[in-house]
Parts: sequence; C-alpha cells; structure tokens
Amino acid sequence: CGIVGIVGNEPVAEQIVEALRRLEYRGYDSAGVATLENGQLDRRRAEGKLRNLEVKLSQAPLSGVIGIGHTRWATHGKPNETNAHPHATDRLAVVHNGIIENFRELKAFLETKGMRFETETDTEVVAQLVTYEMRQGRPPIEAVAVTLPRLRGAFALGFIFSGEDDLMIGARHGAPLAIGYGDGETYLGSDALALAPLTDEIAYLEDGDWAILRHKSVDIHDENGQLVHRPRHKILSGS
Ligand code: GLU
Repeated sequence: CGIVGIVGNEPVAEQIVEALRRLEYRGYDSAGVATLENGQLDRRRAEGKLRNLEVKLSQAPLSGVIGIGHTRWATHGKPNETNAHPHATDRLAVVHNGIIENFRELKAFLETKGMRFETETDTEVVAQLVTYEMRQGRPPIEAVAVTLPRLRGAFALGFIFSGEDDLMIGARHGAPLAIGYGDGETYLGSDALALAPLTDEIAYLEDGDWAILRHKSVDIHDENGQLVHRPRHKILSGS
C-alpha cells in the first residue's frame, strides 16, 4: 500500500520506517524493510503496526545504505509475516502496491520452470519472474524491462538487487510513484508526503514509466523504453 526506497550513504532502515509512518494514513496490516549491505540482501518484516517492525529492527538491526520499505494492505494472501513485503529471492527484493491480475498464469509458467514459491501473494510472481530472467543471464535492468510488459493490473514496484550497491528500479503502472532527488542520494516514494523528510525536490512518474535510480543519477524510461524527462517540483521539506 505504501512504498519507500532510499539509495543512500548512511544506514537507511530508520529513515525508511520514518517515511513509512507518513504513509500510515493509507491503512496497512503489515510492514517490512530490506537493505543491501556489502552486496548482501537482508530484510525484516512484521505483522501489524510499524512499531512491531521497529522492535524487530532494534533486536536485529539492518545497516545497509540502500533499501526499500513497504506497508501492506493485503489483497492476495493473509496478512502475516510470510506474505509481508519486501518479497525476496537470492537475486533481489521487491515491494509492490496494487494487484498483479495475471499472477496465476505467471506462477503456473514459473512453476513449470522449477521456480518455487514461498508466499500466497500476487507480488511474489514479480520477484520470481525477474529472478528467472536473471538466471537466463539477463542483467537486472534488462530482466525488469522484459518483465514489466508481462504484468497485468495496477501496480507500483520498487526493486533492489544482490551485489548491486548503486541500483534501485521503480516502476509505475496505475499506482502512483514519485522520485526524490537529494545530495548524492535518490529516493522512491508512493507520494510527496513520504519523501518530504528526505528531500524538497521530486518528480512524479507517469503511467508506464520505470526509473533507474543510482546515488548520482535517475534515468526515467517510458513504457516504450525511451528515455524521458519528467518535471521536477519543489515541495515543502522536513514538514
Ligand atoms: N497485492 C499485494 C499484496 O497483497 C500488494 C498489496 C498492497 O498494495 O499493499 O501483497
């Protein structure tokens, strides 16, 4: 239901939870954070309030400087820890708002290819499909680019990848997603409110857009893969 991503320079888990708190107004049943530390993905997830996630993070901190977070409002699969986002494989972690309408077909296809599923969510097919494409030898950006046109429904997505300390991908298709620009940092968020503590400069992705975020650059592509410019707006930061 809410997405936050930070390509940062200091441990980001706490900032991600703080930004997720600003998305609480949307409602949610569970929450989670994944970060990448020395190329290794790790995540913490909890059913219920963000407080439960904070307790887990205080018991077992995440210290990655690039990370994604999510508040979930379950559409497919019970609201429990297993079904909470981020969903992860050995290659990547992903957060998702919305619904992947054709997840059953995609799941059936992937199961014939030997991919094994851990959750009851529609979202996990995205994690598994991109992972499948990467196992065929595609680099992360290409794996996402070939996956997006295969997804039906309304979604916003955020990805990070094992071994990729300077890469996050965001995609928007029928659910809002904004990019934030900082000083040697970039951000992803469901709305301006989530990004306000982090930056005062944002751009909204348009429908079909997907963006490659790095510490010092953001490349936005439209649904045909063309590089596009989306206007940047000043917002009231720190409020
Ligand atoms: N459909 C996804 C799920 O049930 C995402 C729901 C959301 O937008 O939070 O896990």
